[in-house]
Amino acid sequence: MGNYVCSQCRGPAVFRMRHHRLAFCQPHYLEWFIEQTARVIEKYHMFAPTDRILVAVSGGKDSLALWDVLWRLGYQADGLYINLGISSQEGDYSNESQRYAKDFAGQNGLRLHVVDILQQYGESIPQFASRSQRGRIKPCGVCGLVKRHVMNRVARDEGYDVLTTAHNLDDEAAVLMSNTMAWQVDLLQRQYPVLPAEDGFVRKAKPFCRFYERETAAYSLLRGIEYEEEECPFSVGSKQLVYKDMLNKMEETTPGIKMNFYAGFLNARSAGYFSPQNKADNEQSRELHRCPTCGQPTASDGACAFCRLVKAA
Ligand code: SF4
Ligand SMILES: [Zn+2]
Ligand SMILES: [Zn+2]
Repeated sequence: MGNYVCSQCRGPAVFRMRHHRLAFCQPHYLEWFIEQTARVIEKYHMFAPTDRILVAVSGGKDSLALWDVLWRLGYQADGLYINLGISSQEGDYSNESQRYAKDFAGQNGLRLHVVDILQQYGESIPQFASRSQRGRIKPCGVCGLVKRHVMNRVARDEGYDVLTTAHNLDDEAAVLMSNTMAWQVDLLQRQYPVLPAEDGFVRKAKPFCRFYERETAAYSLLRGIEYEEEECPFSVGSKQLVYKDMLNKMEETTPGIKMNFYAGFLNARSAGYFSPQNKADNEQSRELHRCPTCGQPTASDGACAFCRLVKAA
């Protein structure tokens, strides 16, 4: 770490953040990271100390770091691992990831819900995808649909007040860029660090949305969290990764540009730039019904997209 010293204690620093003009030794970085998370939770009124929190856990560095920070802050935070039934050339991606999530829960005395998609619904994500799209495209669309359904169902059935995900600044900036390039105003309206519970959807919060990915990675590393290092094999070549690469290149020459892009958007959104002009039009376009099979909200008149997918299995 060169000659950098900790901004707190002036001892040797192990991690430096150019855009913040800060460097820290290990204990002070861990402390800073937890404090910053607490600030974001407060700033966006994400949840209260008494709320029951469900943490979506993938077994990777970000989600285990989020679970770690939330229980250290004293929150009642349980995990949810969704086994997607995905394998890669390197090995059994989903089962390996589940093992990391289970080990983390066991080591810290935390409660983990596990939903195994193959066992519960008869097909894995790749099987669902190859049938519904005849193998033409990646399974990410189907995967997103299934994960959203299962996360909302578990959160509501088990009485959680809020569902948290570990999306970081790199994720949010990439999604923002994607939505902006296509001017998807409806998606821009819904991109925010916290979304209130509505129409049968549980409240959702992203307490890591203002951390760079390298900052969450540093937290896991310096905390000694063991996590699945392999990425999902279907993530290779995704549109989100392309945008992440572009933003990383921009960040190299202009430190802080990613944060400015995202924070500037949040300010504009708060100022009403992405609010629907006509509230009635917006409500109508989002008019939701109850799925007759699972009871979850859906925009379609009959069964929801998830139940149609499972029924066809
Ligand atoms: S990369 Fe695609 S298939 Fe893999 S976990 Fe993410 S959304 Fe699912
Ligand atoms: Zn220090
Ligand atoms: Zn349904």
